[in-house]
Parts: sequence; structure tokens; C-alpha cells
Amino acid sequence: MTQYSGQEFGVGNAEDRVIELNGVWKTYRMGDQDVNALAGVDLQIQRGSFWAISGSSGSGKSTMLNLLGCLDRPTQGKYLLEGQDIASTSDDELSDLRLKHLGFIFQNFNLIPQLTVQENIVLPLFYQGIDPNEANERGQSIAALVGLAERLGHRPTELSGGQQQRVAIARALANNPSVLLADEPTGNLDTATGDSIMELLVELHDQGKTIIMVTHEPEIAAYAQYQLVMRDGNIESITDQTNNEHHAQKSVVQA
Ligand code: ADP
Ligand code: MG
Repeated sequence: MTQYSGQEFGVGNAEDRVIELNGVWKTYRMGDQDVNALAGVDLQIQRGSFWAISGSSGSGKSTMLNLLGCLDRPTQGKYLLEGQDIASTSDDELSDLRLKHLGFIFQNFNLIPQLTVQENIVLPLFYQGIDPNEANERGQSIAALVGLAERLGHRPTELSGGQQQRVAIARALANNPSVLLADEPTGNLDTATGDSIMELLVELHDQGKTIIMVTHEPEIAAYAQYQLVMRDGNIESITDQTNNEHHAQKSVVQA
């Protein structure tokens, strides 16, 4: 394993970078105090890489993921997504960028209980105005990809936690985004189910997706290529695990 600081890390061609943060600050005003949730973060994410972000509570993980997910803008500094500076986009353009480039996976799955599996999966396609027939076809093939072909007519409450997370992953894939953002994707699952979800993410990574996941579990972080640890709103360390096998490294990682 190799240790890098955030600044040294991430050399490579500009076109290989799907995400670039330059001197990014996120400051919250609390009464008469400023809280720097992010304090000058520099980071480059190569296309097709797989990241796990961890760090103690309050270190800035959620702020970072919200920012990467274009749910928020930096107070200061630059965020380039697919080469586009998000500071110069309107709110509408920002949600277009989200729909086009990003897929979201949450700890609580965030499925719509009244909708079937198929309807949940294709929801982002309707927001994009894609033809319903095409959307349904795409929904079916993605459902098959995540192992849900037999469950298309079910509602989320009729599914196990692991199956619900598969629906959420399928929904995140519907737009064929370049980046998947996952916030504690296995946090509500037992170990075996969590491992099967991680194996699905590894498979998606092998197919070329860029994956950025927040997790506080070392066994889950061990699936990623790069382990990024946050501390006080900045990057404390990045550990490169690319020379290790995803699965094999689980047993050797130091908790
Ligand atoms: P983590 O997800 O690692 O626990 P957060 O990104 O949620 O950390 O928070 C980082 C810091 O920013 C914390 O000190 C937190 O209290 C503060 N913070 C986060 N969101 C807000 C907010 N909306 N208003 C004020 N302070 C916030
Ligand atoms: Mg958090």
C-alpha cells in the first residue's frame, strides 16, 4: 500500500478526470460562528476508479458527498464535474448535470413505496423525458443486471433489504451515469447481504463505473481501490489499494 497526501495524489490526463476539486471550502454560518465543514480540499477522481471515504463523525464526509453530488455548491474553490465548473451553472443546469452524470445510492434505499420495482427503477428516465417504452425496456435489462428480473411487479415492502438496495442501485444506473455516489450503502444490511451488495458494486466498477462511497466500516472500505480518510474538513490520507485484489484484501486490511 502507498500513502499519499491529497495534494500529491491524482496525476493523470485531464480528460481521465471525471471529478476535480480545487481548494474547496464549505462554510456554514452558525449564529456568529463559521464552521468549515470542508477546508480547502484538493482531489482528483480518475474515471473508472472506486473510492471509499471514511473519517470520524463531523469530519466532513456528508458535506463532501453532497457537494460531489451537486446537491450543494462550494462556498469557495472549484468543483469540475466532467470538466464543467459547477459554480457557473444555474440550479436547473445543476439538476440536469445530476440527472446526466450521477447516480445516488442511500443507506435507507429511498424507494417510493407506492411504486413497483420496475416503476422505481425507471423513475429517473421519466424525469429526463425518455420515451416510456424505451424506459421500460431499459428498466427490465437493468433489473436483470442486478438480479431482480423476477421481481419487477413487486413493491419495495415485499422485498428483503438486500433486494431493496438492488432496486436502488438499478435506479441509480438507469441514466447510465458515469459516477455512482453511495452513502453507507450497506449500513442497513446484515454482513452477508452487505457483501453481496459490495460484490455488485465491484462488478459495476469492473464495467467502468466510477464509484464514490462513504462508509465507516473498514471491511466495506476494503472493497474500494482508494481509501480516503477525512479529518476536520480535509483529506487526512489516501491509501492506494489498487495492487491488491478487491476480495482478497478484505482479510488483510487493518481495522
Ligand atoms: P460527517 O458526515 O463526516 O459526520 P458533516 O459533513 O456532516 O460530517 O459535517 C461536518 C461539519 O460541518 C460538522 O462540524 C457539522 O456540524 C457541520 N455541518 C454540517 N452540515 C451543517 C449545516 N447544515 N449547518 C451547520 N453546520 C453543519
Ligand atoms: Mg455524515
